[in-house]
Amino acid sequence: MLSAEQLRELEAAVGAASLILDERRVAFAADELKVPYLPHAVVEARSVADIQALLRWANRHKVPVTPRGAGTGLSGGALAVRGGVVLSMARFNRILEIDPVNRWAVVEPGVINFQLQEAAAPHGLFYPPDPASWESSSLGGNVAEDAGGPRCVKYGVTRAYVLQLEAVLPSGEVITCGPRTRKGVAGYSLRDLLIGSEGTLAVITRMVLRLQPKPARTLTLLALLPDSASACALAATINREGLTPSALEFMDEAAVELVRGDLPMALPEGCRSLLLLEADGGRAEAEELAERLGHLCGEAGALDVWMAEGGEKAARLWEVRRRLSHTTRERFAQKLSEDIAVPLDRLQECLEACRRLGQAKGVHVLAYGHLGDGNLHVNVLSREEGEASLARMWQVVEEIFRLAVDFGGTITAEHGVGCWKQPYIGIELSPQSEQLQMNIKRLFDPNNILNPAKIFSWPQIEEFDA
Ligand SMILES: Cc1cc2nc3c(=O)[nH]c(=O)nc-3n(C[C@H](O)[C@H](O)[C@H](O)COP(=O)(O)OP(=O)(O)OC[C@H]3O[C@@H](n4cnc5c(N)ncnc54)[C@H](O)[C@@H]3O)c2cc1C
Repeated sequence: MLSAEQLRELEAAVGAASLILDERRVAFAADELKVPYLPHAVVEARSVADIQALLRWANRHKVPVTPRGAGTGLSGGALAVRGGVVLSMARFNRILEIDPVNRWAVVEPGVINFQLQEAAAPHGLFYPPDPASWESSSLGGNVAEDAGGPRCVKYGVTRAYVLQLEAVLPSGEVITCGPRTRKGVAGYSLRDLLIGSEGTLAVITRMVLRLQPKPARTLTLLALLPDSASACALAATINREGLTPSALEFMDEAAVELVRGDLPMALPEGCRSLLLLEADGGRAEAEELAERLGHLCGEAGALDVWMAEGGEKAARLWEVRRRLSHTTRERFAQKLSEDIAVPLDRLQECLEACRRLGQAKGVHVLAYGHLGDGNLHVNVLSREEGEASLARMWQVVEEIFRLAVDFGGTITAEHGVGCWKQPYIGIELSPQSEQLQMNIKRLFDPNNILNPAKIFSWPQIEEFDA
C-alpha cells in the first residue's frame, strides 16, 4: 500500500534488515485485545538513529508510526489503527547499568519487566511496579501506560520509579527529560508528560528507573471470605488501621467460582470471595504486619486465613491471580475487560451497581483486581457469540464508566485509553481538559504521525491516505 518509492526511501533510512514487509507483519497486528490491524510495514529499530530516520521519513510522507513494546496492552495502544508502520522496540533490550549506590537501573525500553527484577536481585534491590503481565510486558510499555500492579498498593505505580527518559520526538529530535536525581524542579516535567502518554508524544529509547532495597521477607496471606462485601469492608479497615500490605488482591464471587478448581487448596463451601495479601519488610516487621492483617481478616468474618512464606502453594496462588485475565477469555465466548478505580469507601456500592447493570442486560459481570488501590477489573462477559450480545456488553461498559466517574473515580486506572476507551474519554475529561491535551499533542506532533487516532476524540484528523 506504500508506494515503491516510499518503500525504497524507508529501506534506505532504516536498513533492509530492520524492515518487515511480508507475512511476518501479522505478529505485530494485534495486542492482548485480539483485534488485529495489519500494518503496512514493521520496523524493528536497532538504534536511536533508525528511529530518527523513520520519523523523519514518516513526516515527509505523512505516514502513521505506532510504537510497540511487547504487545500485551489491553486498550489497543500498540494497534496501527490508521495503518502505516509499526515501530517494534523489542531489539532495545539491554540492561545498561544497575547502580546500587544511586539505586537506579539504566535500561532500554524493550527489556521485559521480570528481566530487570532478576538483574536487580543480586544487588539486594528490586523494581516495585509489577503488572500481572510482568513476565511478558516491556518496561517501555509499562512507562508509556504508567502501569500498576499488585505491589503498587504499597510502593506506588510506575511513575514513582521513573527518574529520567531519553526519547525521540516525532520530528526526529532527541530529548532527555528529567535529571537522574530523585529531586529536580527545573521547568515543566516533560518526563511526567511522557509517562502514560501511550506512545503518542515521543518514542522512549532509554530510561533511568529507581530501585528499592529488597525487603528481607515477604509473607503471603489468603483470606477466605463469605462474600465480596466483607472483602471490601476488610480493605477499608486495613486502611483505617494504618496498615500497608504490599498486595491486596481481590476476587469476587464470580471470579472465585471460575477459578475454584485451579486453586492449590480446596475452598470450604461458604467461601465465595478471596483476598490475597502480602506483608513485606524486615523479618520481625513483616511477621508483625502479617499477624495484624490475619487478625483483621478474622474479625471481618474470614472462614479461614491461610499464611505462607514463599513455596509452591503461594506461587500457584499468584499464578492463578495473574492468569485471571486469560482464564476469563478462555472460558467465555466474548469478553470486555475494564479497569475502573473508585474511592475505597465506594467499592462495594460500585460492585453491586455493576452487577445490577449486567443483570439488566443479561450479561455476566465478574470482578477482580487491586482492591487496595480501589482498582477493579470489571469483566463484562457473555457465553453467546454475536453482535447482539456484544452490543449489550458495550452498553453495560459505558454505564460502568459513568458510574466510576460519578463515584469520583476513573474509567481507566492502569490499562490506558488507547483506541478501546477512546469513544468514552468525554465521560471523564471536561471539553476544556481534552482540548488542552489535544493541543499538547499538536505541539509535539504537528503532522500527527505518531500513534494517531488514540486517546482523544479527533474528528478533524484526516485519514492516512494509504
Ligand atoms: C494477563 C495480563 C495482565 C495484565 N496486568 C496488568 C497489571 O496488573 N497492571 C497494568 O498496568 N497492566 C496490566 N496489563 C496490561 C499491559 O501488560 C500493560 O499495559 C503493559 O504496560 C503494556 O506493556 P507492553 O510492553 O506490552 O506494551 P504494548 O502493548 O506493546 O504497548 C502499550 C503502549 O505503549 C506504547 N509504547 C510501547 N513502547 C513504547 C516506547 N518505547 N515509547 C513510546 N511508547 C511506547 C505503545 O504505543 C502503546 O500505546 C496486563 C495485560 C495482560 C495481558
